[in-house]
Amino acid sequence: MSALGFIQVLLPLRLKWEPFYSYDPETVQSPLTVGDRVRVEFGGKEYVGVVTVEDAAEGAERIGLGKIKPIRGKAEGLDKVNETELAFWRLVAEYYLCTPGEVFKAAYPAGKVEEEEVKARIKERLQERIARLDEKIAKARREDTRARYIEEREKILHCVQNDKRSAKGVALDDFKVPELTEAQAKAYSEIKEVFSKGKPALLRGVTGSGKTEIYLKLAADALAEGKNVLYLVPEIALSRQLEERIRSVFPDNLKVSHSGESLAKRTEVAGFIRESPYIVLGTRSSLFLPHRDLGLVIVDEENDQSYKQDNPAPRYNGRETAIMLAGIFKADIIMGSATPSLESLYNCQAGRFSLIELTERYFHAADSDVEIIDTIAERKKNGMVGSFSRKLIGHIRERLAKEEQVAILRERRSYAPVLQCEECGSILKCSRCDAAMSLHQKEGFAGKLVCHYCGRVKEYTGSCPECGGKLIPLGAGTQKIEEEAAALFPEARVARLDSDNAGSSRHEAEIIRKFADGEIDILVGTRIVAKGFDFSGLSLVAVISSDSLLGQRDYRADERALQLLEQFRGRCGRRSEKGLFVVQTSQPGHPVYKSVTGEIDRRGASETLLAERKVFGYPPYSRVINVIVRDRDKTRVEAMSRSLGEALATALGGLARVIGPYSPAVDKVGGEYSRIIRTIFPKDARLRAGKKILADTVERFGVERRYTGRVSLDVDPV
Ligand code: ADP
Ligand code: ZN
Repeated sequence: MSALGFIQVLLPLRLKWEPFYSYDPETVQSPLTVGDRVRVEFGGKEYVGVVTVEDAAEGAERIGLGKIKPIRGKAEGLDKVNETELAFWRLVAEYYLCTPGEVFKAAYPAGKVEEEEVKARIKERLQERIARLDEKIAKARREDTRARYIEEREKILHCVQNDKRSAKGVALDDFKVPELTEAQAKAYSEIKEVFSKGKPALLRGVTGSGKTEIYLKLAADALAEGKNVLYLVPEIALSRQLEERIRSVFPDNLKVSHSGESLAKRTEVAGFIRESPYIVLGTRSSLFLPHRDLGLVIVDEENDQSYKQDNPAPRYNGRETAIMLAGIFKADIIMGSATPSLESLYNCQAGRFSLIELTERYFHAADSDVEIIDTIAERKKNGMVGSFSRKLIGHIRERLAKEEQVAILRERRSYAPVLQCEECGSILKCSRCDAAMSLHQKEGFAGKLVCHYCGRVKEYTGSCPECGGKLIPLGAGTQKIEEEAAALFPEARVARLDSDNAGSSRHEAEIIRKFADGEIDILVGTRIVAKGFDFSGLSLVAVISSDSLLGQRDYRADERALQLLEQFRGRCGRRSEKGLFVVQTSQPGHPVYKSVTGEIDRRGASETLLAERKVFGYPPYSRVINVIVRDRDKTRVEAMSRSLGEALATALGGLARVIGPYSPAVDKVGGEYSRIIRTIFPKDARLRAGKKILADTVERFGVERRYTGRVSLDVDPV
């Protein structure tokens, strides 16, 4: 037996350390090196881990060689993890206070490994067949037999090769990048200037200004330099329209990637980007593809909340993580939005990013008109028909008569989001969550009650479980609005888009295509209809019960409402036709609407919000880390969170403010109670140390108290 080799292995687990293993260099043929994937046993289970230290003999000796287990073998056929991936995982883990193993797990979902193994095995078998055919071809006497063998060999070879496409050179004049307008060209050269200083750029461009065109030009530059491009969008629905546009410019280099897709597809994308010049269009999970020679990262609609992953760890924000990834590759990064996040504006003020403005629309459409409708006043005047005001109905009729399209936003899906008993006044709640059950009438849930928090489905009887009284709906969800719209405008083609039916991505794509092609007149939906789509015939957008946008008791509610409203308003009147934006609300005096109507300077509004945050020391002027305690037992969650809160206050004294524990808006989900302890760190030199103390205190608390509930950390919660 030859001398054993010792390695350290990163496992896809929430593990603070990387265990040691030994191997026999002869059985694995060559010495293992960093990035190799190996099969090992840990805690009685087999995992595929990544070698992170290839020469760990010294460390292994310290632990005691006798205690070290041998690996089970090399994970055959799996591509090596590259060092930039490892460095990136460590960076993400450090920032988001999780383990590199948890990031590894997110980057290489378990099933994917099997998939790759299967593929490798298939490939191996095909190659064996080719070898056998080669022998036969050599031995064949008759010409026609030989021809048959050769043909078969050709076919198999084709299969093998198409799995891995050969690298194609990219010539600059291959790309049909649109001619930039003067304003766009100016913004473009300003961005290049920012890039040359190695800084991230923030592009604040009004909707319809052609930010996409600028991104495409920048992408073409990167590819021409032999670098690759990552183009991030917050949601996959958005990528569909973009995909065509990007493909028309880069037909051979585009791959689309998102977390909902099949493992085979993900593997294919990973395979492609290992070999070819690429532009990946994807959601946040595409940050974790095995990137190579990244030259440009684009973060489109950078303010969108969908960039944040809430669960499981890593609870990362795609925008911040994109900055980390770009940093590792020394790649250029551009973030764009019509309404940038306060975080990014703050970073511009602090000189970390540079702000580039694009204020001119490509089609020179004027700002759409805004009309705020006071639903309480209207109701008193008999001005409401169900959820629609007579004023809005008039506007919609006018647009339909001109064969223009209408989009209606309602934040609550379902038919009736809340049901209340006529007799006893109680709200019908989910038995496992502290949340109302909503009544559905579509998509296989017709006549059923659904809990939007835990997914529980219950038969709807129409009577109150407490007293047997009659249940009546409070408010209308998207399904009801769709029904009302169909009744009010019988000649119009009405469709709905929300997560109830957008769950099927084909259906969703179909609705978006139909609306874009003018086959739908009125589209009703949740905030998905406000996302960055480009519908040329859309000239009226309306928000029904806009109050639900303001209703969150959170220091960010106004920022979000403003961003959503601005984004939605940007959907209409994108061509020459002047658009109309209607908001129905019972709080017409709310400051958010003042900035929507332009009564308060719209761009000044963000600055005002920033100034407010500064006064209160809220993010982005500080860093918030939430400690979330979850437990099936209510008394225990209360006691534990209280004593953890005290422990944190003591440990972090002088380093951070500790607030709570408090109950979240919905404090029981799926039978589990939760409490939040909010810690607020000043952004100063002690932040790093403070984060470590926080993580260590939480860890120690769990161990010392033998706490069986779950405690998780959420850095920069949204
Ligand atoms: P934004 O993303 O800033 O809202 P888009 O990039 O979607 O704006 O552009 C709005 C519309 O204007 C699109 O239909 C786009 O094709 C068109 N457009 C913008 N710039 C150009 C250009 N330079 N040449 C041709 N069409 C353009
Ligand atoms: Zn529930």
